[in-house]
Amino acid sequence: MTEQHPKDPTKLYHPDKFHKQYQEAPGIQSKMDPKPDCGEESYKGNDKMVGRKALVTGGDSGIGRAAAIAYAREGADVAINYLPEEQSDAEEVKALIEEAGRKAVLIPGDLSEEQFCIDLVTKAHQELGGLDVLTLVAGKQQAVEDIMDLTTEQFRKTFEVNVFSLLWVIKTALPLMPKGSSIVTTTSVQGYNPSANLLDYASTKFAINGFTRSLSKQLAPKGIRVNAVAPGPIWTPLQISGGQPSEAIPAFGQQTPLARAGQPVELADVYVFLASNSASYVTGQIYGVTGGTELA
Ligand code: NAD
Ligand code: MG
Repeated sequence: MTEQHPKDPTKLYHPDKFHKQYQEAPGIQSKMDPKPDCGEESYKGNDKMVGRKALVTGGDSGIGRAAAIAYAREGADVAINYLPEEQSDAEEVKALIEEAGRKAVLIPGDLSEEQFCIDLVTKAHQELGGLDVLTLVAGKQQAVEDIMDLTTEQFRKTFEVNVFSLLWVIKTALPLMPKGSSIVTTTSVQGYNPSANLLDYASTKFAINGFTRSLSKQLAPKGIRVNAVAPGPIWTPLQISGGQPSEAIPAFGQQTPLARAGQPVELADVYVFLASNSASYVTGQIYGVTGGTELA
């Protein structure tokens, strides 16, 4: 047994300023400095998901990577989706899943295309030999200061990736998922208290809140639970590839009560809890991991 000393949450990870950095979206995690902590070294499993079959979108990096690593260390076989440009990040995750002794399936492709969403679920189900956890983490976020500069193209794409893909993926998956399966979506503090420069993105997160709660009521009688995770500011490629203006990167996260950005690994336990049988009486809920910012 390892002794668990209390750790001051205001002092963990990177409480100081980040240096300014920018990459083209979607951003490659291995090129970030510091690299996000997705539990590569630290996450320890406790057999909570042995034999489960999980599809994680956005599983190459950031929060999705933390969920994918944790699921594998809890005993699940894991398929991850990401964009083709992110292949190198995805290969790192594949190696980590395999090191945990589980099957890893890599399925690159664009979630804004309905046919791809159908093919993704079909392939994940086939290659995993089943599907009982659907963890939908992928998201698009590009800050635009003025509505006059927000193009129809960006507005549409943000909704397609963040909201429409949920419809397409879940409609394909449901007939394949047994009772006891779990669906976990990913919303944001932006789905409660929207920033001025995230008009399209914040709107999609409000939509995800409604989608998740409505669907949970529809699927409860079918024995499938549906919940969401609402992260606050987390150090990931999303933020340094246009999610925030570059000037906002150094102090990213410092406005939260805990006065620092979170790391993806700090969400891993919540994704595991919601996916696993531990959450058997939990559906229609939105779990905040926000550094103390209220979801209201
Ligand atoms: P991330 O960049 O590591 O993950 C986002 C992933 O979305 C990318 O890795 C990419 O694979 C995927 N993606 C984007 N467009 C896609 C497309 N068209 N097709 C397929 N995949 C696509 O960043 P992250 O912060 O870990 O983001 C994960 C989720 O967390 C997102 O839904 C985001 O909105 C949410 N979130 C993040 C924060 C934060 O501060 N980082 C805060 C609140 C919510
Ligand atoms: Mg990525």
